[in-house]
Amino acid sequence: MTVLELEGIQKSYGRVQALKGVSLSIPQGSIYGVLGPNGSGKTTLLSIVLNVLSADAGHYRWFAGNERAHPRKDIGSLLETPNFYHYLSATNNLRITHSISGRGSEAGIEKALRRVNLYERRNSRFSTYSLGMKQRLAIAGSLLGDPKVLVLDEPSNGLDPNGIAEIRSLMKQLNADGHTIIMASHLLDEVEKVCTHVAILKTGSLITEGPVEDVLSDEDVVEIAADDMEALQSLWAGQDRFPQLQQLQLQDGSLQLHFAKGAADTMAINRFCWENQQVLKYLALKKKKLETRFFELTQE
Ligand code: ATP
Repeated sequence: MTVLELEGIQKSYGRVQALKGVSLSIPQGSIYGVLGPNGSGKTTLLSIVLNVLSADAGHYRWFAGNERAHPRKDIGSLLETPNFYHYLSATNNLRITHSISGRGSEAGIEKALRRVNLYERRNSRFSTYSLGMKQRLAIAGSLLGDPKVLVLDEPSNGLDPNGIAEIRSLMKQLNADGHTIIMASHLLDEVEKVCTHVAILKTGSLITEGPVEDVLSDEDVVEIAADDMEALQSLWAGQDRFPQLQQLQLQDGSLQLHFAKGAADTMAINRFCWENQQVLKYLALKKKKLETRFFELTQE
């Protein structure tokens, strides 16, 4: 099941082609990260699917095949930080959000505040909130009416490490509660830690998309270490037991064994070392980091 499908979306601002024909589909239940450097078109893309901007070409469809879904009611969004009143409490600010948007109910305000862990502080003035709490209140606003899907533009932008951690755990919690989350981010680390799926944009073009695991790793790297690193290296340099081994590299005090994606058998590696008198003191399977992959992808 998908919640959103895009096909060939194009958008220009005068001579700037912000989106050059983007197609993707967002699975229900995912935390879908739209990742790209500044100016790659993320905000434009989210604005189009939220009907804030219109596309020049292409089309998109929410909840294809689910006739009972109502896009306006079932999508909560946070494109820009809302202007909350500094002297009002969280509850009163959300009452205003509710009366302007017509979403949710009085009881829904309390529920939303609980969901973002602000219920205990619901009567404190907005001005006394930390940046992370302010952002959580903004997310509470987008939760009014209990939408199935949340669309968030750079939800942890401008926050300190504590605030970032709060927002990340909130994303995961909301997802576990059944919300599909679509979020733009320019932070690899965030996408890697929070998202289940990712689409990488570069100057308006989609470079790749899919489950984070698939996009970020194109090889398995097994790091091993023993007391005698020279002996370990020569054992592996001379072996023919693992024909899938593509490359050997001594790095930062460990030996890195590069295999094709999915081809590393850590138990067999461990057993092979043991049977050849090499007792491993360290063994770890690493996927190629998204950082390297993202850099490669946006440079190509
Ligand atoms: P950022 O992370 O910096 O917000 P982004 O990936 O969200 O970037 P967009 O804001 O969608 O990217 O911008 C995509 C391109 O379109 C950029 O080159 C930007 O300068 C341009 N652009 C965006 N909005 C406008 C506008 N209203 N008028 C003219 N050009 C625009």
